[in-house]
Order: sequence, then C-alpha cells, then structure tokens
Amino acid sequence: MADFPELYIQNSLTRTKELFQPLNAPYVGLYVCGPTVYSNVHLGNVRTFLTFDIVYRYLTFLGYQVRYVRNITDVGHLTGDSDDGEDKIGKKARLENLEPMEIVQRYTNDFHDVMRVFNMQSPSIEPSATGHIVEQIEMIKAILDRGFAYEANGSVYFNVRKYSEAYPYGELSGRKIDDLLNNTRTLDGQDEKHDPLDFALWKKADASHLMRWPSPWSEGFPGWHLECSVMSTKYLGNQFDIHGGGMDLKFPHHECEIAQNTGATGESNSVRYWMHGNMLTVNGKKMAKSEGNGFTPEELISGNHPLLERGYSPMTVRFFMLQGHYASTLDFSNEALQAAEKGLERLMKAMKLLSELPISNSGDNDTTIEKLKERCQKAMGDDFNTPILISVLFDAVKLINKVADGSESLSEVEYNSLTNLLHGYVYDVLGLTPEEQENSGEGETEGLLDFLVELRGKAKANQDWATADGIRDMLKAMGIQIKDSKEGSTWERD
Ligand code: AMP
Ligand code: ZN
Repeated sequence: MADFPELYIQNSLTRTKELFQPLNAPYVGLYVCGPTVYSNVHLGNVRTFLTFDIVYRYLTFLGYQVRYVRNITDVGHLTGDSDDGEDKIGKKARLENLEPMEIVQRYTNDFHDVMRVFNMQSPSIEPSATGHIVEQIEMIKAILDRGFAYEANGSVYFNVRKYSEAYPYGELSGRKIDDLLNNTRTLDGQDEKHDPLDFALWKKADASHLMRWPSPWSEGFPGWHLECSVMSTKYLGNQFDIHGGGMDLKFPHHECEIAQNTGATGESNSVRYWMHGNMLTVNGKKMAKSEGNGFTPEELISGNHPLLERGYSPMTVRFFMLQGHYASTLDFSNEALQAAEKGLERLMKAMKLLSELPISNSGDNDTTIEKLKERCQKAMGDDFNTPILISVLFDAVKLINKVADGSESLSEVEYNSLTNLLHGYVYDVLGLTPEEQENSGEGETEGLLDFLVELRGKAKANQDWATADGIRDMLKAMGIQIKDSKEGSTWERD
C-alpha cells in the first residue's frame, strides 16, 4: 500500500484530533448531509458544503480514491425539525399549489447552480431520500427485529431508553441520557410515543399529507434521521470512514443516525470520524432563513440585500470562508469580504506572474521550496487548516515577487516544483479559479456569466427589478453587456 502523508482529523465523537487511518486505503468513504430542498440555499449552507468540498479535494489530492456521497433530503424533514409539524417540502408544495416533486426539482436545480458557481466538486453519488424508501423500510424492520423500536397506530418509533440500556446514547453531542430523560416534557395522553426522547422511524400519513408510501405499518413516510443512516451505509458499508455535516446537525440528527445504525446491526462505531463544520454568523447570530439574516448567493453577487454594501464575486466569498478554520464560527462582514477580495487579487496576480517568471541556469531556492511544501502539507494535515495554508501560500507569493524583481532566481527544476506546489494547493486543494480565466471568457467564467444572466431572468420574472438591475449594472462595470431578445437574454463583451 502506498504511503499517504499524515492527516489528523478532529473527531467530534472522541473530541480529539486523531490520525486518519481509513478502513480500506486507498479507498475512503465520505458521507455529507445534503440540503433539504424546499428553499434556496443561503450562504451559511454554502459554508458547510465548502468545508466538505475541501475535505474531498484534499483527500483526493493526497491520492485517496474517495467515494463522496452527499444526499438530497426530499422527504421527512418536518417544520418542527423533529417529529412534529408539516413536511417542509409538502408545505411549500401546498402553499404554491405545485407537486412536491416540482418543489424538489426547483431547489435541487438551484442548489446545483450554486455549487457550480462556487466551484464545488460534484459528489460521486447524490442519492435522494424518496429514491430509498424500500431500503428505509428494510432498516426499520431490522431495528424492530432487534427490539429497539415499537409500532404505535401505524407509526414506528425508536425506543431510546431501551437502546441506551444496551449502548451509549448521547456520546456525540455530549448529552447525558439521564439528563435527557429527566429534562424532557411529559407526554400527554394523546402521544403515541412511550417516551418523549423516542423519535419517528416511520410516520403514518394523515389525510392531508401529500407524500406517502405503502409500508407494513401504514401508508406514510420515513422519519428524517433514517434516510442518512440508510444512504450512508448502503453506499459506504456498515462501517465507513468520515461523516460530515453542520454543527447544528449533531443533535438530534447525527445522534439518532448512530443509534439507528447500531440498533439495526448491533455493531457500534459505524462512523469512524465524525466531522462538524461551524456556523456562518452575522453579528454573532447563526445565519438562517428564519432569522431573516440569510442571503442567497444571487443576492450576494448582485449586492441587493440590506446587509451588503455592494456585490461580491463567488471566488471572493470562497476565499473569505477559507481564511477561517472550518471548526470556528465565521462572522460575515463587508470589511472582511473587501479584505478577502484584495487578498485573493494579490494571490491571483502572483499566480499569473508565476507563469511568466524567468528561469535561470542555476537557482538557490530548492530548500526554500521544499520548506514551503512541508508547511503546506503540515497545515492541511492538521485538520484541514486552510487559514494557515493560505498564510504559507503568501510566503510563496513573496518568493515569486522576488524572482520577478530579480533579487532571487529559480532553476528549471525549482521553477517546476514551485509551479506544481502552487497549482496543486491554489487550484486543486483550495479550488480557487484563476483570475485570467475570469477575463478570457473560458470555462467556468462562461458558466458563471450564463448563470448570472439566468438569475437576472428569474429576478425579472419575479418582478424583482432591484436584483435584475443590480446584476446588469455589475456586469456592465465588468465590460459585459446583457442583450435581451424574444428568445431570451444573452451576454456579450464590450
Ligand atoms: P439544511 O438544508 O437546513 O438541512 O442545511 C444544509 C446544511 O447547511 C446543514 O449541514 C446545516 O448544518 C448547514 N447550515 C445551516 N445553516 C448554516 C450556517 N449558518 N452556517 C453554516 N452551515 C449552516
Ligand atoms: Zn443527514
């Protein structure tokens, strides 16, 4: 087996930084909780998906063959975030008088557009909850067979108390089962659950519920936590390497996943490394739709949001987010974005300069470059520390500038290793797109411009003139004209 550079991962389950040892190198299984597709993603969601984009990119960069599974939640996530309330997608479908699958398609498309604009790599498999109802029913049967669930009026609930007598419950979120059992509300006589801590594996659908499937217990729908247990183990095995998601999913979602996995198989430690990304905040408060402080990438680009002084490019935001470590909270501010814009510009200018550097017959920088390489690897090997990596890259920028002004020289070998190093970390690991592409109309830039024109079209259709005009004016400032015709809108360079 090939040797892989050391990588330490902060495991949320053990609360320690552990040496990453995949079950079956060079293969790595990575599961990340995807979006619930009932509304547009906001910038907070983008941060979490970026965190795992970096994990995926770096593991691949190290030479691992990663199977990256990121699901689409298209059923079972209720408005109460537990077992109460309406299905989030069903509710939106009811309000808009559309099929639930129309809602799912619309917001899945939006999610994919946003991922593309931020240069996120696609997962290897993107399974949806509604595509795995049969497997979810099978897992419920397995949990029932092992005695950790019970049926009540056509619904099936996980029996947390019984489970906690056999296996630990609450380890991931650091909650003590006794506190949980003592601190929950008392059940009223109407409740089907034996205990308030129990959670739904299957719920019987009432007459008004739109999304429903037949099952041995009732016509109904699966509980939210179940889909991730099912889809992760189906594609990655009963035990797999890494499971990720936002910090807010630790409890109850991930705690319940662990209980379901163990409850179904009797095998503990289904996930070897749990990773949690921290929240994007605004003035210290978690960015969330319900707080009214969440803006969409579309608003970010156009600058049309009260929190934004002006528009910012997706790459600026990517760079801004990577300047913070994923495990720390990151506070959004215009000042921070403007500083990130300058920093990114400096880095990208140096990347351009790198391609034009003179090569000397002899150079004196092989140790310097070797040291830079070691520091880059050490930064990323220390729990994906992108802010430290970026600071090392700026040391490399200094070297580039010195070679350009003649105070340092590079041999061909040194030049090649510096180029490999920077291309590898800037483009492949951090996923920053080169500035020159943005001006040459190639690849991602064209896609980005098409996307912006599409967004403007959507804004116009919604009579959101401020956003539509904001996009047009921003593109105009960049030398891009939008041409409207009967067939639709296109863009052209001045
Ligand atoms: P949802 O679509 O609500 O299930 O969320 C999708 C992902 O975004 C989850 O992993 C959440 O933890 C994450 N998320 C939601 N809000 C934020 C935020 N403000 N900052 C970072 N991640 C977030
Ligand atoms: Zn999940």
